[in-house]
Amino acid sequence: MSEDHISPRAQRLRDSGHKLTHARLTVLDALEGGGGHMTSTEILEQVEALDATIGRASVFRALDLFTRLSIVRPTYIHSSVTPTYVLMPDGHHHHIICTQCSRVIEFEDCGLGSLTQTLEDRLGVRLTGHLLEFYGLCADCRDAPPEDQD
Ligand SMILES: [Zn+2]
Ligand SMILES: [Zn+2]
Ligand SMILES: [Zn+2]
Repeated sequence: MSEDHISPRAQRLRDSGHKLTHARLTVLDALEGGGGHMTSTEILEQVEALDATIGRASVFRALDLFTRLSIVRPTYIHSSVTPTYVLMPDGHHHHIICTQCSRVIEFEDCGLGSLTQTLEDRLGVRLTGHLLEFYGLCADCRDAPPEDQD
């Protein structure tokens, strides 16, 4: 990746005063190639495929930094053991998770801009993003009898 063609996320990293190190850019590359959801295991594998000299500790330090900057957010949507990192385009990411079949439905428009403003004003905080998750039954599961897995 050349310096003059950096991605919006790399730009965000630089704007927040952080160096665009090779390790950080490689982890960003891996995340951007992953379609928005990647487990930490997948990220490690992808980074290793891109550059095997980057160690696990550097990958996790980069992920911690990206989490602080609301570039990604760790969630446990697919496993309670391995976190899935979701990319936060413009600081948002929204899910509807089916509690029956575990399907994850993405949606864009959350309409939370005014709530964000209200919270900032009322609580004196500065918000950088949100991960919104609704739980319920998807269109397929809504009318099906509940599965009893034992
Ligand atoms: Zn949103
Ligand atoms: Zn479902
Ligand atoms: Zn998602």
